[in-house]
Amino acid sequence: MRQLASTLDRIDRKGYGAYKDLSGSHDFEEFTLFVDRVQRDPFAPPSLIRVRTNTNRFDPSLFENPVWRFAFEDFLTREVDGAIRKVVGGNRGTGGSGRVEIQRPSQIVLPRTSMVVDDEYVEARMAVGLPARGRSVDAKAAKDMLLRELPEVVRLSLSPENVDANAAVLHVETIEDAAALRERLPSLGLVAFVADGARLPRESGASDRPLEEGSIPFESPPEMRVSIELPNRDEVSGMGVPEGVSLIVGGGFHGKSTLLDALSVGVYDHVPGDGREFVVSRGDAVKIRAEDGRSVAGVDISAMIGDLPGGKDTSRFSTPNASGSTSQAANISEALEVGASLLLVDEDTSATNFMVRDERMRELVRKEPISPFIELVKPLHEKLSVSTIIVVGGVGDYLDVADRVILMEDYVPSEATERASEAREKFPPRAPTTDGDAEISAPSPRTFRPSSINLRRGKKETARGRGLSDIELGRERVELSYLEQLAEGGQTEAIARVIGKLVSGGKGRSLREAVEEALAEVEADGLGSLGGFRGHPGEMSMPRSHEIAAAMNRIRSLRTDSG
Ligand code: ADP
Ligand code: MG
Repeated sequence: MRQLASTLDRIDRKGYGAYKDLSGSHDFEEFTLFVDRVQRDPFAPPSLIRVRTNTNRFDPSLFENPVWRFAFEDFLTREVDGAIRKVVGGNRGTGGSGRVEIQRPSQIVLPRTSMVVDDEYVEARMAVGLPARGRSVDAKAAKDMLLRELPEVVRLSLSPENVDANAAVLHVETIEDAAALRERLPSLGLVAFVADGARLPRESGASDRPLEEGSIPFESPPEMRVSIELPNRDEVSGMGVPEGVSLIVGGGFHGKSTLLDALSVGVYDHVPGDGREFVVSRGDAVKIRAEDGRSVAGVDISAMIGDLPGGKDTSRFSTPNASGSTSQAANISEALEVGASLLLVDEDTSATNFMVRDERMRELVRKEPISPFIELVKPLHEKLSVSTIIVVGGVGDYLDVADRVILMEDYVPSEATERASEAREKFPPRAPTTDGDAEISAPSPRTFRPSSINLRRGKKETARGRGLSDIELGRERVELSYLEQLAEGGQTEAIARVIGKLVSGGKGRSLREAVEEALAEVEADGLGSLGGFRGHPGEMSMPRSHEIAAAMNRIRSLRTDSG
């Protein structure tokens, strides 16, 4: 610490580059500070530091198994984030001067690189903006930041005396319960579960935080209520959605999409207080939407779409510019390719001509290559064991293919399968609503050609995340804004690096195999194994194989071979 102070004195007012002298480790009383990367100038991306406590004095039961450990790491990340907000003054000069940051956690809990809870120590990985006056070192501000604020942040967030032990226990127990709940789903024949009392609506379209005022708690229809035992709280009751085809119907603005959205992030665990702690869906559930304009590389969509104009082959469909319907078909096929037992579809974000075709259009338009989704949902379940939950407001035809119907009225769900069949009897279709079930088989796997992806950008190779919904691979930007189940920028970063590894690995393999192997490696060796600067891995969080594959599928230069 004294060494650090004297180095700072020595470089005061020198050119900003002199901060390089801070590189390396510095002993503090309670912890070691590692300066892994020093930024080039005050406007460059921040410097990367790690703070490692000399001992881990937290109750070992808080991290006694892998689930508790990552949940506790998530908890401590939030503690550090809170302490930074309390202690750090912020702007101290040019550019990012004075900033102190830890990976900002969302409402979900994921394994992340921000924190390591080891038996011997706790290590927080942060980014700081070393203070500058103009473009020269501001030692006084740097001392205040590194010698006063930083130790205070550590004292408040990483010492057991100052951390609310009950909150920590609640955090890890909640995550363990949610994970257990999700794991129970298959053996109960369920694809999703929404706990009684859950609060689904969000603060706004731009915020994932719970809506505080006027939020109507979820209450299961009695017919669908199940109770499930959990490791920590005795039991949780709520709506179990069985396998098969389920519809969520209801008038506009009655909470249909809100319910479906909660299910689509139900593949992840949520923090206590989120309202969706016990809203879970199968971990391999995939939200399917239309995404016109995306590129598609050799995807078998023949089950959904037949002969296209110009004799385009739909068993190996490629296009730089998919339509609404072909993009949605590709999204389904790609989800099945990686493995999905549940598809979530909202008519709000679907291509109408992909969902249904009515009798008049059947009469008028004979050359229609699309088998609408309505003809697919039953075979998907019966042949491929893939269930579907679909939100429909306007298209009554779906009542004919539904195993059950959930009616949302004023945000309150009721079981309406009976009423739906009465409605069907009262208004039978004048003509068959479908041409019958479509043929479907699992899409044939594709091999990706690593050589089709060029990571070169000038002299360097790049594969990195740019915020939540962009990846930079060499000169290409991969756009991921329609991946609704991508939850954090840290996942995007991890996905970028996994793709980078797969490309440099050079081995052409089936996409699914490649992604699963890469992910298994990351799970075994930790996210940090994806690289970084010296000891600092950067900001990453664990992605799902589905989003990794989805990102690869959106690389415009991607070329694949079948089989
Ligand atoms: P739909 O898809 O049926 O048209 P949405 O799910 O988009 O309706 O919900 C409409 C509005 O109602 C949104 O602003 C949403 O936040 C709000 N909302 C949804 N569920 C609830 C609830 N349980 N309590 C209060 N407001 C809700
Ligand atoms: Mg809606």
